[in-house]
Amino acid sequence: MPNLEHLTKILRDRGYRITAQREIILGAIASSDDHMSAEEIYAKVQARTSTIDIATIYRTLEMLVEEGLACKTNLGTGEFMYATFQHGSHIHLICRKCGAVIDADHSALAKLEDSLLADYGFRPDLQHISLFGLCAKHAQKG
Ligand SMILES: [Zn+2]
Ligand SMILES: [Zn+2]
Repeated sequence: MPNLEHLTKILRDRGYRITAQREIILGAIASSDDHMSAEEIYAKVQARTSTIDIATIYRTLEMLVEEGLACKTNLGTGEFMYATFQHGSHIHLICRKCGAVIDADHSALAKLEDSLLADYGFRPDLQHISLFGLCAKHAQKG
């Protein structure tokens, strides 16, 4: 099922009303499998209609995050980046010195997930996260 239909179906099933505005915003995020900031989604939506303001974009994105249909990640760019889960599971390793970004396999987090669930009954959203640290080049220098 295409991502947009998938998202709208789940939201309708959960009792959300899919207004024309929401559908345009959902379409903008669903048609990309890369991360986008709210500003980028706003720019994309503006190309179709000028009746949607940035606050509506934020509200819709927060709704997706709350419902577990999108993730919100800090990639060190100063604003949150949003992506639906077709973006895939991975860890972004971001060097705090040079800003290099390495995509790492998210299976490294399986143990953390299990132990947080066992110890705290907490189910962390680890499908798409970023970790800040030092890349191989900068870690060597200490
Ligand atoms: Zn570095
Ligand atoms: Zn990513």
